Order: sequence, then C-alpha cells, then structure tokens
Amino acid sequence: MKKLINILDFLPEELENEIKPMFHVKQLCQWIYQKYVDDFDSMSSLSKDLRLKLGQKYHFSPLQCVNFLQSQDGSIKYLFELNDGLRIEAVLLPMKKEKFDEKGKRISHTKYTLCISSQVGCRSGCSFCLTAKGGLKRNLSAGEIVGQVLWIKKHNKIPYEHRVNIVYMGMGEPLDNLKNVSKAVRILAHNDTFAISPRRQTISTSGLAKQIKELGQMNLGVLLAISLHAVNDALRTELMPINKAYNIASIMSAIREFPINQRKRIMFEYLLIDNINDKREHAKELVKLLNGIKAKVNLILFNPYEGSIYKRPCMQKALEFQKFMREKGITCTIRESKGLDILAACGQLKQRSEEL
Ligand code: SAH
Ligand code: SF4
Repeated sequence: MKKLINILDFLPEELENEIKPMFHVKQLCQWIYQKYVDDFDSMSSLSKDLRLKLGQKYHFSPLQCVNFLQSQDGSIKYLFELNDGLRIEAVLLPMKKEKFDEKGKRISHTKYTLCISSQVGCRSGCSFCLTAKGGLKRNLSAGEIVGQVLWIKKHNKIPYEHRVNIVYMGMGEPLDNLKNVSKAVRILAHNDTFAISPRRQTISTSGLAKQIKELGQMNLGVLLAISLHAVNDALRTELMPINKAYNIASIMSAIREFPINQRKRIMFEYLLIDNINDKREHAKELVKLLNGIKAKVNLILFNPYEGSIYKRPCMQKALEFQKFMREKGITCTIRESKGLDILAACGQLKQRSEEL
C-alpha cells in the first residue's frame, strides 16, 4: 500500500497548488483543526472527488495515545506512540479555572497550557534529565509537533475559540530541530488552523547560542526561555555538557540580539537542586549575570526520579532564593510543580512505561 503523507506537515498555502481554489484549503483546515473531524469522508463541504483524492494521498493522525495519567491538580500527562513505534510525551496543564459571575454565568473559560515535545530523546545530555538518558532517537516532523496539540485539544473537547498557550518544554531540545519547530510555530499560529499567536508560544532551550541567533533572525515573534540552571561555566558544564559548546557568555550575547516585544521579557529557567546551585552566593551571581537584560526568572524545584543522583530542595530554600531576586528588582516566580504525582518532569512517564 502507498504510504500516506501527514497533511499536518503543511502550511495552508503549501496545499494551495494541489487543492484549488484557496477557499477549499480553508474549509479543509477548518474541518481538521477547528471541527476536529476524524476522516476526510466526513468533510461534507468538500466535493466527493476531492475527499477521495485527499484520502488516497494524506492522513492526519501522526500519533496514538498509549497511556495517560491525570494528576490531582488537574494536569494530564499523555504518552503518545508515533507511527514508527517511537514514543513521546505531552502534558495538558489547566492554568486558570473558569470564572462565573454572581448569577452563575460563565465570564471566562479555563486557560490551558500545552507542554509539547520536539524530539524523540535529546542529545544535550543534561545530568538531571531523564530524557537525556537514551540520547537522541530522531527529530519530530512539524506535523508530529502540531499533531500533539490537535490530539489534546480534540480529545479534551477544547473548542477552537479557547485560547491555549504552547510551551516547547516536553522531550527534546527544540533548537536542535529548529527547521521543524519553527514550521510548527507557523502552522499553529496560522489563522486557518489554531490561530495560536507566536506570543503565546514559548521555546525553551538549553542554550544553543547559534540557533538562538537563527531563531531571532526568523523574527517569528515567539517567546524564548533559557534553561540556565547554573551561573558559572564550571558548574553549568557539569550539569549541562552542552555548555562546553555554548558557554554562558555566548548565550548571553545571543540573547542580547534576540528580538523581543516591548512588553515581553526573556525567561530564565533556574532548576534548584539541593546543595548544588541553591545557595545565596548563586542567587547573587545570577543577579549580576542578568544585569541589563529584560529578564524574568522562573525557579523550578528538581523533580526526583528513581536513580537520580540529585535531591529536591525544600520549599523554604526556593522562597529564600526568590526573595533575594525580588529584593534586587528581578521578577521571580516559582513554577508550580504541577503533576508531581504523575511524573510530569520531562521524560518520566516514558521511562516508567518502558520499565513496566
Ligand atoms: N530541552 C529544552 C526543553 C525541554 S526540557 C530545555 O532544556 O530547555 C524543559 C525543562 O524541564 C527544562 O528547563 C529542564 O531543565 C527541565 N527539567 C528536566 N529534567 C527535570 C527534572 N528532573 N525536574 C525538573 N525539571 C526538569
Ligand atoms: Fe535535553 Fe532539555 Fe533534558 Fe537537557 S533538559 S537533556 S536539553 S530535554
């Protein structure tokens, strides 16, 4: 049988040559991305001929859900199997609950953040990360990245009009797959698909300075998060070997050139690991490093897993670190450890499923 092509890999305008007029492409996209239909045959506004032609050439199901876990805080972690049998994870995080007025009328909907994967595995080799353990298996295609959003929105019946945020913080290093990730950003942002503005999409990176520059030159309007985790090169290299190729100075210089919206800032993620990087001296160095940069800091408490060599610090330490940053005038939040009970840190559900 002929191998079908994933239609989610294409921007609407790329389908225009094949599906004329453009108006049909619009309709096709509405069926897939907004009405969540399951097959070409149900797309009743398209001609029978076109539906047949599309079905012989394309599919739009690049992944199947093989396991999921719901946390007490409402977040759901999905384990997906790709069409070649490899597995990735994604998480749905309800951030703000829906609100009602005094008469019981809904005034705002639940706000969701979707955390999605960009690669199967990762080659950055961070010593605290489970995804690093198996190395890189392969890049995801743009359509496999978009497919995670489609699957989660569709199966949770999140209507097209409800805003969702996207964070590229699942498995993999998004900037090691820049071509496909940047395409996914554009597909997700397209008005005929999900219309998720790039300002609602955050790319998180271990600091590939060269690709940060390339991403900046693309001027997509996405937000950038840097997984910094350490403030001097010796410690950072120990935690994140990628620091040998791109040291802290090279990352900071790439960031200074990165185009950001007037009202936005670069996010620095700082993983607090007990007794490794959580002391007052580290906080002081961090303040110095961020001097002159429109930055905000997000503290993450290390999420332990079986066999991990590091420990999670107590909340008190995180609060002290945060207090110090705030006293120095730096916006600093502590990431809610959503889904702790469901192994929500990167790679942890996949690992568990392989052990079972
Ligand atoms: N590769 C990218 C994006 C995926 S990792 C990056 O490193 O930024 C997303 C975030 O999860 C990163 O900030 C990473 O440091 C963090 N992370 C990895 N393992 C973790 C763990 N065990 N506990 C808490 N956070 C972890
Ligand atoms: Fe890769 Fe990010 Fe994990 Fe480091 S933290 S190994 S860059 S996924």
